[in-house]
Amino acid sequence: QPVVAVVGRPNVGKSTLVNRILGRREAVVQDTPGVTRDRIAYDATWRGRRFTLVDTGGWEPNASGLQGSVAAQAELAMSAADVVLLVVDATVGATATEEAVAKVLRRSKRPVLLAANKVDDERLLAETASLWSLGLGEPRPVSALHGRSSGDLLDAMVDALPEAPRERDHVAAGPRRVALVGKPNVGKSSLLNKLTGEQRAVVDSVAGTTVDPVDSMVELDEQLWRFVDTAGLRKRVQTASGAEYYASLRTRTAIDAAEVAIVLLDASEPLSEQDLRVVTSVAESGRALVLAFNKWDLVDEDRRHQLDREIDRGLVRVPWAERVNVSALTGRAVRKLAPALRTALASWDQRVPTGQLNSWLSELIAATPPPVRGGKQPKVLFATQAGVRPPTLVLFSTGFLEAGYRRFVERKFRERFGFTGTPVRINVRVRE
Ligand code: GDP
Repeated sequence: QPVVAVVGRPNVGKSTLVNRILGRREAVVQDTPGVTRDRIAYDATWRGRRFTLVDTGGWEPNASGLQGSVAAQAELAMSAADVVLLVVDATVGATATEEAVAKVLRRSKRPVLLAANKVDDERLLAETASLWSLGLGEPRPVSALHGRSSGDLLDAMVDALPEAPRERDHVAAGPRRVALVGKPNVGKSSLLNKLTGEQRAVVDSVAGTTVDPVDSMVELDEQLWRFVDTAGLRKRVQTASGAEYYASLRTRTAIDAAEVAIVLLDASEPLSEQDLRVVTSVAESGRALVLAFNKWDLVDEDRRHQLDREIDRGLVRVPWAERVNVSALTGRAVRKLAPALRTALASWDQRVPTGQLNSWLSELIAATPPPVRGGKQPKVLFATQAGVRPPTLVLFSTGFLEAGYRRFVERKFRERFGFTGTPVRINVRVRE
């Protein structure tokens, strides 16, 4: 989601304009110098384009005098934003501060829009024209207070946004796609047979190539699921040589074709390297994940305790994955796979609104700031959830954030917002 940063001196009406653009009376603190705001980023939509609107007023107030602080805002805005909106008070005109900021902005490759605010009546239009001198292109008269021409400004802003990346977000119609993966002999085909039951599975075939059914439709807990790439599973092909190679190839294709993967593990045996590799490849692929421990009918008290220890040791990377204990042989608990799949997919699709995300983040960072690196304290400015499937956060920061701190942020993020059953990606954008 593209980012628009609103930059300007105190009292030019940044917050009023932000509210005007958001189309609601948000609790934005008055534009008083020195007042730090805890919420600076908001979701906005105009003509169907979604973007994040950042009010830079909260950044480094009075860092080095007023002029310095506004210039710092501009610099941060340039590194973090796709489009910068400079707001000038038309009744005052361009001050030395704006001249300095304009100089910074002219150097940037980012598109800059110049808003001449407080043009509440026609007589001020002449003042607006004088702002051409800033060298930032056409000054656009607006009245944030009365809403005058803010639609035109928004049009120009949306036009300046970069092309929307083609999101994989589109919801594919029909049943959700599930991959059933795991090392040989964990019971994949047994489970699939159990799930498809006596009734013949409805199957698809790859057009024109083969009569081999590729996917299996499974009804589970009153919902239809599409188990992808199950041809090999259903036929029970035993490839004598290179079995493992084919197995891992099959695993990859199935994961790629799916939205959520059930990794089947053999609960009656120690977790192996191969098991963990499959789990890792699902997490890294960004698909949702359910862990199913099969052959539960063979698990006794002793084995259960042992398994707990193996899980603690082996599955540390996916503490967020839900676990279901099943038996493909007896049919034990196989129905419970459905709610686990639903939870994982809901998390995979989940989006936290930017406002909520940032009020949580600012509290977190105030309590536990990122560790100092090279004598400098990185400052995390704001965050947006750039995407779903899997949920992806972008943290905008003034410095590099180490892996340990990113993991800490992820852990806290999950504590606050859930996201059971899905990997979460955290990217950091650092100002150059
Ligand atoms: P795949 O290679 O993952 O498809 O595994 P299979 O479905 O071929 O199962 C391998 C072996 O494990 C077979 O002998 C199955 O009968 C057995 N098996 C599968 N599921 C269970 C289970 O839940 N309990 C027990 N006791 N055996 C199982």
